[in-house]
Parts: sequence; C-alpha cells; structure tokens
Amino acid sequence: MRKPFVAGNWKMNLDLEASCAVAGELKSRLGSATDVTVALCPPFVYLKAVGDVLAGSNIALGAQNVYTEAEGAFTGEVSGPMLLDVGCQYVIIGHSERRHVIGETDELINAKVLKVLEFGLKPIVCVGEKLQQRQAGRTERVVSAQLKNALEGVGKDQMASITVAYEPVWAIGTGQNATPEQAEDVHVLIRSLVSDLYDQRVGEDLIIQYGGSVKPENAAELLRMENVDGALVGGASLKAESFVPIIETARSLGRS
Ligand code: PEP
Repeated sequence: MRKPFVAGNWKMNLDLEASCAVAGELKSRLGSATDVTVALCPPFVYLKAVGDVLAGSNIALGAQNVYTEAEGAFTGEVSGPMLLDVGCQYVIIGHSERRHVIGETDELINAKVLKVLEFGLKPIVCVGEKLQQRQAGRTERVVSAQLKNALEGVGKDQMASITVAYEPVWAIGTGQNATPEQAEDVHVLIRSLVSDLYDQRVGEDLIIQYGGSVKPENAAELLRMENVDGALVGGASLKAESFVPIIETARSLGRS
C-alpha cells in the first residue's frame, strides 16, 4: 500500500524567522505522525535552520533543486552531498518553474535524477503539460515524454526512491486546480507507463503526488482519487493554518 506523501514547496518565499516559525508549528502539530510522509522544501539558504527546527520529528527536509556534480567550479550551484550534509532526504527535480522559467531541459533533469540517486537522495520528479498543450490534446504525449526522459537509466531497484509529482503548469500558483478526474486520468497514465517501463509491482508502489493550487478546500476531492497518493503544495504550504489541514486530509484518506 502507498503511504500518502505531502511535500511543501516554499519556492523563493519566507524569511529565516518565518521559515523556522512555520516549521516549528508543523512540528508541534504533526511531528509525530507516522501514517503520512511530510517534507518541507525551503530555499537552500534556510535548509539548515529549518532542519534544526524539525530535528526529532518525522517531518523530512527537502531541497527545491540540485546540481549534477558533487563539487567543483560551478558557481552558484548546490550539490547532492551538500544537501545530504544539511539533512535533506528529498529533492524536487524538474519543477515547471525550473523547466519553463530557468530553461532546464529533459536531459539536464535526467542527469540530476541519476546523480542524486547515486548519492542516496530521493527525487520528487515533476512532470506536467502547459495549457496550450492540454488544449491541443497533447497532455498524454507531453507527460509521457517528460517522464520517460527523466527516468532514462534509472534502475528498477532505484524506483522505490522516486516520487513523481504531476503538476499541470496551468494549475500552478493560479488558483485553478485540475479537476479530480483530470488529475486521476494523468496519474493512471503515469502509473501504467511506469508499469510498462519496469513492472506492475513498481507501478503499483509508485507514489504520485498531484500539484497545482492544492488548498484545504479542494484537498479531499483530489486526494480521494485512487491514484492520487499525495500532494506537492506551493502557496498553501507557506502557512501552517493552510498546510496542516491538507496533511490531515491526506492522513484521513490514506490507504496505507
Ligand atoms: C508548486 O509549487 O509545485 C505548486 C503546485 O504551487 P501551488 O500549490 O501554489 O499551485
């Protein structure tokens, strides 16, 4: 059975004091929960401080990005070993803002996935179509290609470390979430693609998060879908008062 997994992507938001305050509140309200996996992904510069606040709880630390090399002359980049050094377990790879604002390619995303697996980090691999692609009936093709490319060279035994986040670009930060049926359709596609690429067990065990304007008001209808195993949450993860109810919903609907 798949344990629900909810991750908060803080993007380039909050300052040091606010990051620690939100982490502290989450820890006191949810820190001992074992029936849901929770991760917080603050900006790089706050990872250590947030990790210190979360110490002793079951809430994991994740990063929003990583570079492909372990060390060296790569000004401005942060490596997998550095993330491990400050206590990260997870790293978001291929978020749509990195694909479409920063210009990351499928090739770079695949290189990052392969490298962080080597280091023992767990990638949250993001895929999702743009609005024009959905309107042109290309969702399936776009998502399948992104996923196949991201997983190129990933071994079957490494798939237990991978989470996939389906994040339709048109739903991220817009307030307009995918309908539960739209999300479920793509989650089914992702699971069957992974079953085809590996085997049915790998497909069945894969945790697939939905991301895109998840809020306390729509979390239940999305998380109730059979193939929606959790959420990657942006805006609503910035405050405990909106993030906690989403996590509680995932716990209550959990199939683990
Ligand atoms: C995200 O950052 O991955 C995201 C889904 O953002 P939001 O929840 O704000 O749409």
